[in-house]
Amino acid sequence: MTARPATGEPAPRTATAAQPRDVGRRNVASIMRTVLAHGPQPRTRIAELTGLSAGTVTRLTARLTSAGMLDELPGVLGPAESGRPRVPLDLPTARNAVVGVHIGLLRTTVGLVDPRGSVLGQAVHQHHSHEPAQLVAQAALGVEQLIGELGGGRRVLGVGVGVGGWVDTDHGTVVEHQPLGWRDVPLGTLLTAALDLPLRLEGTVRAMALAESWYGAATRVDSAIELFIGNVVGSALVLDRQIHRGPRSAAGTLTHLPVAGARGVRCDCGRTDCLQAVATDSAVLGLARAAGAATEGEEIEDLVRRAGEGDHAVATLLRRRARYVGRAAATLLDLVNPELVVLAGGPLLTPEFLPDARRELARHSQLGEQAPQRLVHSGLGPHSLVLATAAPFLDAYFSDPLSFERGAEHLVIGA
Ligand SMILES: [Zn+2]
Repeated sequence: MTARPATGEPAPRTATAAQPRDVGRRNVASIMRTVLAHGPQPRTRIAELTGLSAGTVTRLTARLTSAGMLDELPGVLGPAESGRPRVPLDLPTARNAVVGVHIGLLRTTVGLVDPRGSVLGQAVHQHHSHEPAQLVAQAALGVEQLIGELGGGRRVLGVGVGVGGWVDTDHGTVVEHQPLGWRDVPLGTLLTAALDLPLRLEGTVRAMALAESWYGAATRVDSAIELFIGNVVGSALVLDRQIHRGPRSAAGTLTHLPVAGARGVRCDCGRTDCLQAVATDSAVLGLARAAGAATEGEEIEDLVRRAGEGDHAVATLLRRRARYVGRAAATLLDLVNPELVVLAGGPLLTPEFLPDARRELARHSQLGEQAPQRLVHSGLGPHSLVLATAAPFLDAYFSDPLSFERGAEHLVIGA
């Protein structure tokens, strides 16, 4: 199901990071976000939408236009009541770009998006090592090549970076990433030094959650939980349109979440009912191998294909995974009561088993039959990694554009 609940007028896509304290900077952010969310608008409409006075909007938009942060479009929308022409203002989308970098277990994906989240292109680089220094060098080279090939002279505003595991966003460090064997890696510092661009590092699942609320499945709601199932499991909470991180950004871990009645492979904690042990791709592969239904070297995609071809044993395992995911979703839904739970990752590859997930969700949630309508699928599409990783930077940029436009700061809000 991709339908979204009808909640009246679509909420504008607003940034979810903290707002600047200075009133001038805040007004600039408000104007820029309004044009981002609503598209090209004349000054009168920007004033209505932001709640700022017409005078403030006229003064600031004139300065933003001369600083190159807004463009006057040639089209005239027709005379306003005053008889003056209404010139729409827009973001210089075609002149700017943002880079998204995802560092995965096997490969690094780099992509370029425009400030509205349209993907301009991406490239994938296979890893030859897990050494942080080598992966940073590979990512930096990939970004340089990408900008050279696809940038088309655009100005790159900054870089968003996503990596799995436990990421301390405030300190720009990867606290722990078991599959890569990383502990306390200052990835943000290393990449900033290599790229010489403003950069925001975020855990991949939190980046996905942010991207869902920017341009995915959760644009219309104030609260959502991203539930990711893949080589790892994890969640991210968006509450009042803000990502919830908690101390050291440790929120959202689901690795050892007990799943009622589930039995999977042995978790590294010793139990067999942890979400990690029953729902990850490697858990499903481990169970399939133990049952003689898969061979060494087969990947989850092989199992998905064989289930589709009628392999009953494999289909049973994937169906069971979907049920376990439904039970985990029930726990999250009851605990946090978000408007949506956005499901992403492996279970979406087997849509034929998602009704099983929904049934289990209804059975295990206190919301009963109301619960499944809160479960939606990721809306990020085939470029989800690029869109997700660009989102933390876009979020930071549109929360306080002038902090990224050093040259324009004096021009726009004055001394
Ligand atoms: Zn465990």
